[in-house]
Amino acid sequence: MTDTLVQDPIATYVGGRDFKMLIGEQLVDAQDGASTDVLDPSTGEKLTTVPTGGAADMERAIAAARAAQPEWERIGVAGRSACFARFDALISEHREELAMLDAIDCGNPVKAMRVDVDLCHAYLRGWPAIAAAQTGDVIPASPGNLHYTAHRPYGVVGRITAFNHPLMFAVTRPLPSLIAGNTLVMKPSPDTSLSTLALAELFAEAFPPGVVNIVTGGGAAGDALVTHRDVKRIAFTGSVQTGLLIQRRAAESGMVKHLSLELGGKNAMIVFPDVDVDEAVEGAIYGMNLDVCQGQSCGSNSRVLVHRKIHDEFVAKMADRLSGYVVGVAYDEATDVGPLVTPAHHQRVAGFVESGVDEGAELVFGGDRPAGAPAGGNFITPALFAGVRPEMKIGHEEIFGPVISTFQWDDYDAMIEMANSTDLGLTASVWTRDLDVAHKTAERLDAGYVWVNDSTRHYFGTPFGGSKNSGIGREESPDELLSYLEQKVVHTRLGDPRAALARMVA
Ligand code: NAD
Repeated sequence: MTDTLVQDPIATYVGGRDFKMLIGEQLVDAQDGASTDVLDPSTGEKLTTVPTGGAADMERAIAAARAAQPEWERIGVAGRSACFARFDALISEHREELAMLDAIDCGNPVKAMRVDVDLCHAYLRGWPAIAAAQTGDVIPASPGNLHYTAHRPYGVVGRITAFNHPLMFAVTRPLPSLIAGNTLVMKPSPDTSLSTLALAELFAEAFPPGVVNIVTGGGAAGDALVTHRDVKRIAFTGSVQTGLLIQRRAAESGMVKHLSLELGGKNAMIVFPDVDVDEAVEGAIYGMNLDVCQGQSCGSNSRVLVHRKIHDEFVAKMADRLSGYVVGVAYDEATDVGPLVTPAHHQRVAGFVESGVDEGAELVFGGDRPAGAPAGGNFITPALFAGVRPEMKIGHEEIFGPVISTFQWDDYDAMIEMANSTDLGLTASVWTRDLDVAHKTAERLDAGYVWVNDSTRHYFGTPFGGSKNSGIGREESPDELLSYLEQKVVHTRLGDPRAALARMVA
């Protein structure tokens, strides 16, 4: 496929194409022939079907991954890096196709999905460098002995992902497990699997057979992966509810498994009265990821805690800024904000908007259907609520959509308590020009990642992950590479060289 703009992206990238899973070296349908209809979130129309994998497909995929693992480990970081480089080149060649597939299937605006594709290159080039620099330790634990550490991959890693950045998750998230010498079985969200299935063909071209396997499907396929005895390490991105279920099911498998869980967020942005209000409003808008994925992002700063002195000005400017967004069909170049992923999710988000109004928050902007958008699409204009309190449903539950709540504060300790009042603790951001205030406040926030005068951006190499119910583990940094390796200590008792020499010459 060429990397030029096309007139009819659905006909070009979806029409007449067979989307297949990757098991070993084969592109396959589900063994029992099951499939699921894929609907266009921008119009509600049927696009195509994708295989619905189940336990039998998982069994075959895990067997293929297991068979491929020893040789994948043996070729070392240099051999594995060569495959990463081939894959990197293929992603560039297929940039437009992959970005369009995410826009068509997931509803994220195509402009943003081109950025998602481009971000993949930093990860594809960054992980081999981190892996090449990885070392073990020599530990001077007791004189006369040599202790050193070595690292071994777990074997087969199972990766299950959420719906909101399908291509980026399928490309970037498996990389540390692969460069560490594990092989992979990946299961994308059943709501957005087209770009991952398109990638199946590219993985097959760049990697040896069985190193990467892709099985689509829902909870049944995911459960078969989580509970399989040959999958010792599971990496999950998704909701708290599914994360808890996976912890339980992993334990019930009777095997002790290593889990990393990247879960939900209800992230606080704290705005002090000394900020440049325009800049902070821009930060709040940017941090909501509205023009990336309609706010369907774990890192979105959906709770904005603004000091009373500037609150009203902040809210007015934010409403004005939101009114400039074009909400529409995701694969239209003019669109800033696309539709939500499914009708069910649309209904859920609209329900939150209703509950905010019912509980007495002030709906300052949006939350309705945009005029002129296709009737069958899952559209909602970004909503801004003011006067929100933590006990309201919109004040503490993760909405995972384009709904921003502002909270007023004037007492510092009460503000900190409010920021930390949810069960989640993924990210937070602090906006002030005062460094003492910024860092003392960052120290008190229960969150895995805190930005100061910045929001939502990930910086490859810095550990990303949540505290409290937002998860276990850190991604995108050397810590993550280590999480895909098991450590072993080798101890050697060193004898007396004089006695040894005497033996040698005797
Ligand atoms: P979800 O939990 O509904 O689904 C996630 C994945 O789990 C899907 O692939 C799904 O098929 C699979 N799954 C469902 N039941 C399963 C089971 N019983 N066993 C194994 N797998 C099963 O989440 P979602 O709606 O796709 O994504 C939204 C959630 O993901 C939000 O809570 C969001 O905050 C979170 N998320 C977190 C991060 C992060 O990095 N922390 C990133 C993106 C999304």
